[in-house]
Amino acid sequence: MAETAYDTDNIFAKILRGEIPSHRIYEDEAVVAFMDVMPQGPGHTLVVPKVPSRNLLDADPVTFGPLFTVVQKVAVAVRRAFNADGVTVMQFNEPASGQTVYHLHVHVIPRFDGIALKPHTGAMEKPEVLAENAGRIRAALAS
Ligand code: AMP
Repeated sequence: MAETAYDTDNIFAKILRGEIPSHRIYEDEAVVAFMDVMPQGPGHTLVVPKVPSRNLLDADPVTFGPLFTVVQKVAVAVRRAFNADGVTVMQFNEPASGQTVYHLHVHVIPRFDGIALKPHTGAMEKPEVLAENAGRIRAALAS
């Protein structure tokens, strides 16, 4: 089992530095949340701590309090924004688990009775749909 270092040029590090765009729905001093560009359902959001780690395995445990405080906020907001029946929270660690971007993040996905998730890292969503969904979640966070 090889240990792999954090890559400062991973795509979420670039989003956090503002080098590539994202549909942000939340930011505080420790955490950012933005829309997943290949959503597994409408409103699929990623919650990302600013402090670098590859995933949960190498993260400083102090990261988890602020991170999961925002995961809960976002879960409540997406449920309200999409009138969802439930919310799936997922997090992957290393390729064998399905992780594809190596900066710790948590998936928050609104769920609807009888509707399965779309495939992980499937189709790209249209930017205008992501923008509209982001607006709905921002409004729910503000209400
Ligand atoms: P994981 O497989 O858990 O590492 O999840 C990475 C997630 O990031 C996937 O669901 C991708 O759809 C998503 N993703 C990849 N690139 C971007 C990007 N530029 N902006 C937003 N989400 C992205």
